[in-house]
Amino acid sequence: MNQFLSRRFFILIPFIPFLKSVLKPLKVYAASKGLIEDWSLSKDEWRKRLSPESFNILREEGTERPFSSPLNNEKRQGTFYCAGCDLGLFSSNTKYDSGTGWPSFWDSLENAIETKVDFKLIVPRTEYHCSRCGGHQGHVFNDGPQPTGKRYCNNGLALTFRPE
Ligand SMILES: [Zn+2]
Repeated sequence: MNQFLSRRFFILIPFIPFLKSVLKPLKVYAASKGLIEDWSLSKDEWRKRLSPESFNILREEGTERPFSSPLNNEKRQGTFYCAGCDLGLFSSNTKYDSGTGWPSFWDSLENAIETKVDFKLIVPRTEYHCSRCGGHQGHVFNDGPQPTGKRYCNNGLALTFRPE
């Protein structure tokens, strides 16, 4: 930074509180506008919204015991929603019996999930989560049926189901 620029910067310092007060109303407007879509809640807020079991999975990347979820045997036509924010994640059309003991799907609904790689079992696995609230859902593997060859292995406690 040359001397001219740095002097200009210091001249601005007394005005920072003023600039902040001018910019603040804009920020509040932006936040209230997106309130319904804003799912960046604190851990305590999530704890209040969820059962302890669902909290452990959605917010702490826990895994339920295999064959423990009633959704494992859910065969009706309908949609599976995120138990955290109710975004539709999977259609019953892509559900299949993988024999693993967890609800399994060979595809997700469009833009419903995002993925990241985790190393919890040392071998890298692809974790996936709800694209709206970030709640952990399960892991995706490449041993699923056609046409995708994917297996979305989902925790039943991270989902709700509504028949159509
Ligand atoms: Zn969600």
